[in-house]
Amino acid sequence: MVEVSLRHISRIYTPGKPPAVNRVNIDVRDGEFITLVGPSGSGKSTCLRMIAGLEPVNEGTVMIDGKDVTELRPRDRDVAMVFQSYALYPNMTARQNMAFALENAGMDKAEIGQRVEEAAKMLELTELLDRKPADMSGGQRQRVSMGRAIVRNPKVFLMDEPLSNLDARLRVSTRAQIAALQRKLGVTTVYVTHDQTEAMTMGDRVAVLKDGVLQQVDEPMHLYRYPGNTFVAGFIGSPAMTLFDGGHVSGAQVALGRECVVDIKDSLVSRASAERGIVVGVRPEDWHISIDGTGSGLRGTVAHIEQLGAEAFAYVELDDAAVTARGTRIAVRLDGVREIEAVQVGSQVAIQPTRCSFFDGDSEINLEYLGGAQPDAGAGSVAAS
Ligand code: ADP
Repeated sequence: MVEVSLRHISRIYTPGKPPAVNRVNIDVRDGEFITLVGPSGSGKSTCLRMIAGLEPVNEGTVMIDGKDVTELRPRDRDVAMVFQSYALYPNMTARQNMAFALENAGMDKAEIGQRVEEAAKMLELTELLDRKPADMSGGQRQRVSMGRAIVRNPKVFLMDEPLSNLDARLRVSTRAQIAALQRKLGVTTVYVTHDQTEAMTMGDRVAVLKDGVLQQVDEPMHLYRYPGNTFVAGFIGSPAMTLFDGGHVSGAQVALGRECVVDIKDSLVSRASAERGIVVGVRPEDWHISIDGTGSGLRGTVAHIEQLGAEAFAYVELDDAAVTARGTRIAVRLDGVREIEAVQVGSQVAIQPTRCSFFDGDSEINLEYLGGAQPDAGAGSVAAS
């Protein structure tokens, strides 16, 4: 049972400035693959380095396998780290790179040989073991760097953007391989990425950071359906959810401008603070589009179309200036060949939400979570403020 617990950990680089990591609290379960995601500078790498022991912890506790390791040296923590840069020794072969740490630890030669062979087989590196990094592709080097972590048989894998140096196609195939390998090995893993697709597709759970503060930890689909606040709502999902400010509540409905109303549950209305209305969020796939522009909903003009082959998105500019969407254009997914063929740049359309998220206008927290509630048996946690 190897759990990793971060108990309110903080890292302050410059006294007087906001902490780079601010009282972050995460419990990683035994064997779990958790991804840390957030924009650049949100404190992901610092968090990971604090788990590894490469960065001091100014406040809080890091626990690994039930033991307080906050003051332990990196090598005494039994964690293996995989870096973006691979950090391979250029003058050593793949085999030597993978064996190096084990030799330093004084392990028996036969045992080292066996571990390297096993890891190489798992990573399809057997044929390449005698090559040096310069004679390998980026993807192969990345696998050697994974191999070097695997042979150590650590309690925890820590991975810091290990796929960033690969081209887009290789990134997609390698992320599936890493996720499958982690599941096979069952080693508790913390994986840092700025790429929300990577975070969503690889993690059992996803932890979202912003400005050093943990926003939400949740399973990918629950995070997507019930983002804890407007930041998570905008960050997870591409194209992003559109957020409308100042939704005016009347009875069991919220009005967006004059011609578009959406239903809202009573239980949610009562949780909103009255001051600034409700922020309404709509994902691109949650719009019904009337192509001739006669249906109900928000009226607008298609300004741009993004054709991705399997799917297409129309970007709509609204006619009604009184409706304030964050971002000037609203992403609407087009469903089926008929819609894709019928909607053109310049088309006049009406768009009506079919499913919405509602956020408190003051705190920007999803109303589903206010008052200690958890939507749909959610497993995660949401930052209180
Ligand atoms: P991320 O991994 O999410 O991009 P980092 O953990 O690298 O974020 O950085 C978080 C914040 O801490 C950033 O504002 C960054 O500039 C700052 N920071 C990181 N390392 C140092 C350092 N060694 N000294 C001072 N500030 C740092």
